[in-house]
Amino acid sequence: MDKLTINILCKQFGIDESIIDYVNEKEKYILDKFKEIDKIKEYNQYKVIHAMQECRLTSTDFNWTTGYGYGDMGREKVEEIYAKVFNTEDALVRPTIASGTHALALTLSGILRPSDELIAITGAPYDTLQKVIGVKGDMPGNLMEFGIKYKEIPLVNNSIDVDRVLNSISNNTKILLIQRSTGYSDRRALTIEEIETAVKAIKAVNDEVIIMVDNCYGEFLENREPTDVGVDIMAGSLIKNPGGGIALSGGYIVGKSNLVQLIANRLTSPGLGKECGLTFGTTRSTLQGLFLAPHIVSEAVKGALLVAVVYKELGFNVVPDLDDKRSDIIQGVQLNSPERVVEFCRGIQAASAVDSFIVPEAWEMPGYEDKVVMAAGGFIDGSSIELSADGPIREPYFVYYQGGLTYEHCKLGVLKSLNNLIENNLIDINKIKK
Ligand SMILES: *Cc1c(COP(=O)(O)O)cnc(C)c1O
Repeated sequence: MDKLTINILCKQFGIDESIIDYVNEKEKYILDKFKEIDKIKEYNQYKVIHAMQECRLTSTDFNWTTGYGYGDMGREKVEEIYAKVFNTEDALVRPTIASGTHALALTLSGILRPSDELIAITGAPYDTLQKVIGVKGDMPGNLMEFGIKYKEIPLVNNSIDVDRVLNSISNNTKILLIQRSTGYSDRRALTIEEIETAVKAIKAVNDEVIIMVDNCYGEFLENREPTDVGVDIMAGSLIKNPGGGIALSGGYIVGKSNLVQLIANRLTSPGLGKECGLTFGTTRSTLQGLFLAPHIVSEAVKGALLVAVVYKELGFNVVPDLDDKRSDIIQGVQLNSPERVVEFCRGIQAASAVDSFIVPEAWEMPGYEDKVVMAAGGFIDGSSIELSADGPIREPYFVYYQGGLTYEHCKLGVLKSLNNLIENNLIDINKIKK
């Protein structure tokens, strides 16, 4: 790092020079790993461009209609391209799907009928989904209220317990739910290879049951996606990886066409399905985001590695560990105290380009059980492919870092968070001095 850069970090951002030296030193340990990330980026970039070419994307696709939105060319093109990228029969991609939770809830409520059973086979699902299902929070309109049965099978040594899953399937079992990413837990993400092994073993015995994946935060981490290895239906958020920091809003669902049809009938209504619904002029940004996503994801993963190496070297438990294969963009750091979680997030917030002057506090967020502190200063509100961090205020006090549209921004986040922890005497400065 040259003197000019060190100067702006010290003088303009108020970072102690010894912290800059420390982070620069630790960064050397991960540069080798960047090569593998770049290979995946390159492959996925070509995959996305090829899908756009195959679907004959053209400038008039960026126009949009009004009213019912029949024949909205852009909407149809976006869905065709998503289906190609994820190697599925069909796709539902809409700016009106409000979030990842909404995409997942639509998928479940579109497919499940009263007395059908849903089994979560990677343990307790993401916090907001527990409310959708009805195991937490007692929200009116949850799936259990509609007579859906629900079971959970925990992971064993971070693997799907295939034998137990097979023994648990009954005549009523309709969907097996796999969550690829960490969520708010202390496990690493499941790799595509691990998902493939489980899906093959299950399908060999039972090819009727529908296997669904919550792919939030997983897109473009590997060359293959869960739908490349036999998964029937999958959902995710456009303000995470596949939106590339550009998509304004939205969610996607990709999979078998009969299932996508059921879900589209839930989104609009039976008889309308996918055939209507406006895009409100979002087609260009949705597709430009998808075009940029492989690159943006690679920047975010490099940033996650930097967080991992810096905090591991300081003696904290990091998930995934440095040498683990990564299958989502999240970096968990077990900070062991609520104060550290809050101050880490405040450092990330202070590094943001937008809302850097805001000081995050832990609060009762809708959809979540514990108080949560969130640092998010994105150009797209709430976007977590942009530099962000959050942590539920519960033991063992993990903070989850994710995103960053450029590696340099990630690095600024790391510098500011560490500076903040040291300034507040939550990490001893002598630890970073040789
Ligand atoms: C973010 C996330 C969700 C929910 O997505 P929102 O867009 O925040 O509603 C669901 N599952 C996992 C694993 C996630 O990371």
